[in-house]
Amino acid sequence: MSTAGFNSQNGTGTGQTYTNGPSQNPVALQQPPGVGYGVNHQPAYNPMQAKVLGPPGPTVYPSGPYQPVPPGPQLGSYPPAPAQPLLPRPQIGILPSHTPRTAPPPMIPLPPHTYQPNRPAYGPPPTMKPTAPPAGPPGTTGTPPPPKADAQCWGAASSARPPAEPDTQEGDVECPGDVAGNGPQAPNSYNHVDNRMAGAAPPGRHLGHYPSLPPGYQNTSAPPPSSLHPALQAATQPYTQGPQPYQQPGGPGPGPAQLSPSMAAMSLQSSTPEALRVVNLLQERNLLPPAPVPAPTPCLTQDLQKLNCSPEVFRCTLTSIPQTQSVLNKAKLPLGLLLHPFKDLSQLPVVTSSTIVRCRSCRTYINPFVSFLDQRRWKCNLCYRVNDVPEEFMYNPVSRSYGEPHKRPEVQNATIEFIAPSEYMLRPPQPAVYLFVLDVSHNAVETGYLSVFCQSLLDNISALPGDSRTKVGFITFDSTIHFYNLQEGLSQPQMLIVSDIEDIFLPTPDSLLVNLNECKELVQDLLKSLPNLFEKTMETQSALGSALQAAFKLLSPTGGRMSVFQTQLPNLGVGALQSREDPNQRASAKDVQHLSPATDFYKKLALDCSGQQVAVDLFLLSAQYCDLATLGCISRYSAGSVYYYPSYHHQHNPAQVERFQRDLKRYLTRKIGFEAVMRIRCTKGLSIHTFHGNFFVRSTDLLSLPNVNPDAGFAVQMSIEENLDDMQVVSFQAALLYTSSKGERRIRVHTMCLPVVSSLSDVFAGADVQAITGLLACMAVDRSVTSSLSDARDAMTNAAIDSLSSYRQSALTIQQPGLLAPACLRLFPLYILALLKQKAFRTGTSTRLDERVFAMYQLKYQPLAFAMLMIHPALYRLDDLSDEGALNISERTIPQPRVLQLSVEKLSREGAFLMDAGLVMYLWIGRNCHQNFLSQVLGVSSYAAVPEKLSLLPELDTAESQRTRAFVSWLRDQRPFFPSLHIIRDESQLKPHFLQNMIEDRTESALSYYEFLLHLQQQISK
Ligand SMILES: [Zn+2]
Repeated sequence: MSTAGFNSQNGTGTGQTYTNGPSQNPVALQQPPGVGYGVNHQPAYNPMQAKVLGPPGPTVYPSGPYQPVPPGPQLGSYPPAPAQPLLPRPQIGILPSHTPRTAPPPMIPLPPHTYQPNRPAYGPPPTMKPTAPPAGPPGTTGTPPPPKADAQCWGAASSARPPAEPDTQEGDVECPGDVAGNGPQAPNSYNHVDNRMAGAAPPGRHLGHYPSLPPGYQNTSAPPPSSLHPALQAATQPYTQGPQPYQQPGGPGPGPAQLSPSMAAMSLQSSTPEALRVVNLLQERNLLPPAPVPAPTPCLTQDLQKLNCSPEVFRCTLTSIPQTQSVLNKAKLPLGLLLHPFKDLSQLPVVTSSTIVRCRSCRTYINPFVSFLDQRRWKCNLCYRVNDVPEEFMYNPVSRSYGEPHKRPEVQNATIEFIAPSEYMLRPPQPAVYLFVLDVSHNAVETGYLSVFCQSLLDNISALPGDSRTKVGFITFDSTIHFYNLQEGLSQPQMLIVSDIEDIFLPTPDSLLVNLNECKELVQDLLKSLPNLFEKTMETQSALGSALQAAFKLLSPTGGRMSVFQTQLPNLGVGALQSREDPNQRASAKDVQHLSPATDFYKKLALDCSGQQVAVDLFLLSAQYCDLATLGCISRYSAGSVYYYPSYHHQHNPAQVERFQRDLKRYLTRKIGFEAVMRIRCTKGLSIHTFHGNFFVRSTDLLSLPNVNPDAGFAVQMSIEENLDDMQVVSFQAALLYTSSKGERRIRVHTMCLPVVSSLSDVFAGADVQAITGLLACMAVDRSVTSSLSDARDAMTNAAIDSLSSYRQSALTIQQPGLLAPACLRLFPLYILALLKQKAFRTGTSTRLDERVFAMYQLKYQPLAFAMLMIHPALYRLDDLSDEGALNISERTIPQPRVLQLSVEKLSREGAFLMDAGLVMYLWIGRNCHQNFLSQVLGVSSYAAVPEKLSLLPELDTAESQRTRAFVSWLRDQRPFFPSLHIIRDESQLKPHFLQNMIEDRTESALSYYEFLLHLQQQISK
């Protein structure tokens, strides 16, 4: 029996060592939970381990910000100081790749004693043109275009530099994992709190005269700045709203060394930073900004920030890194990174070079945050080694000039992609190989999924990413395994049935995976005939395990992608499962059982797959319990994805069918990377110890990703191993080495730079509440599996209590009554409450086990922006949409209604409200909804005429209809998963689902937001 759980990215398991693929770092697959270097960690704060002191526990998750960045509290930047460091890198006007600014580059006078090789006049940035738009995989041509034609790729002269070490051949250290302590939690469960809460104010040191307010608190203005201790006021920069004007330009280089004087200048500022404005949560009600919450901007100089990585791909829970672990521990906030490394980007500089410049010591890729000591030497920003600038790097292919290494695209872009030379391969890049494994049992045929799948693949077969080498194959299964001979020359596909499922073999190994171009007609014939082939089957058994073994054998020689479609609990042969769900206990049980796998069969197979560069994606379409907690392991450890369509039926559930179709289209046509590895590096002194997402950890910091896709998110936890005393900034770099579907070896590199701060106030000021919430969600998933759901829930509550308590005790010097939070964390308790009410963690409500497990998977795997919608949905009023403040995209006007609080208080019977919960949207129609909306948008004459099951907005030729559809489709366009839309009335069966997302309201089993705040306050004042 496996001890595997969500707690570790690997857990235990056995599998063969890696013998194939781009990297050879065979590491025993026996990895305990958590991964760390071979040194002892300082204990990091881990709310998931609540009051137990121990090694850092498991956790995590990736992130990305919401799209529009509305005006709102933003961190500003330190003004550059006049003093100059030794040899800063000359400033260059450059367009940041992700967040264009409107302000022109500043005219910066050259300081004396500054390295200024051929310094260009300020003006348009070097022609950093984007590569292909997201429509197609960037850089899909075999040979890079000449530099002149388009700056997509820069050719470069050859160099005599010794070959760089491949990314995959760095010395990897197998390390002991941390032992997750599952110690007792502090008794913070608030199930028993209601009574206490009903009475008067709880006793507490700081709780003098807080008003006893009914829910629907008064709106009070923020406390005046004078309520802050003067020291605190002086402690930080003004975090002004909107674009910050350029301050006194200090000089050309934003090199890290320059920050010191900047920091000094900072302390002269006296106004209160918005992020630290004290908010009394019990009094201030309107906490949500009108538009989705933007990612905070790190407190860096404008120059550094302009070069920084987009928060859409790289985000940190604390945008100001504490100088020591003890400061971090005091803050009681988790430190970690959230990544979306393979995100579809509209701008991606691609460099072709025979020499990829990396630090000789730590193998970091040269990046915008290194410093040039002179024209010939650069200093690594991760390990501080001084490296030589290779001759080739002296030539700038952008300006076609010599002697400007600081202007190379590699030092101008925090996100960049290299086309890798041959030393980054241990075997020739594999072709794109796609194997489809299809359930054709009676149950499967009943759902009608097979014809949707076959039609979808027929429609998109020419859009599958790949080249002339692309291969495809098909396996179907019920109680036996069916192979399809698609060899060129056959007049029709040949079905080969293997009934010995105990000892599976491949009947004709060479003709089952075929070249798509050469055999396209046979493939199309097969797809047309498959649905009919099994139309009348009465076979109910499912030998999924054997089918997976067969598929693994077929893909092993090349690697590739296995897409598995399953509609029931596998009940025959290896990997057979039994139902573990007791529907009667769904609502009543305080703790949920069976969140961990029932067998390690799927995990072991996944590790075998990972070793052979095979990723398994699972599509689960079922009305019945399928034990996703067990089946999901096949994707989780092989870096695959899980899709789940509960109650899928081609007739009874049109919304799911539409979702399945849309998801399939994206799935089949989206970009894909094969035989990938990802390594995350950080500045010396910081240490990465736990990863979250779908992958296998091959060594300390090397993730094995047989496939990588643009919709996958990752997260890591960090601790501070050595004090960062002398550092003004630290950097993080993620390097993803993969084979494109065109057979190119590529490396995508993201580098993020963040300031180091020493005071607790500064740490709080830099808190990224969404990133923190996303990371905690991952940690709580692990905790639910390794310990219990109630422990995880307590731990999440404790996270809010601990951090606010610490803020109150250590960062606030003038005490005042109330439940106080810095403005940047004002949403933290709301998000924690939202997590407690999320499908993954809720109690007291009937939640199907598979749906809960799927929600847990989603929280760990989705990029942050999407996970946040699952946690705290966005609510909009739609019946009064106007063009005021609308976006204009491709000549379409997209209205931007404000985001409303999740409370029925905000609903009105006269209105229509859209709730966007990530994978699902609800459009609730009030009983007295305006006639205008009913007729002009829904095309019905009255409320009573709104159909019971409506999932499509009719296309009416009215301004109202166009506005509404434009808004809804704009929301959908921005995410990888297609959210289904349910238009509901008061009588609708789905109304309870809609109301369950009203997080601020009280339910039978859960506190209202106001009650939750009182509970927190009570705990904090203890
Ligand atoms: Zn280095």
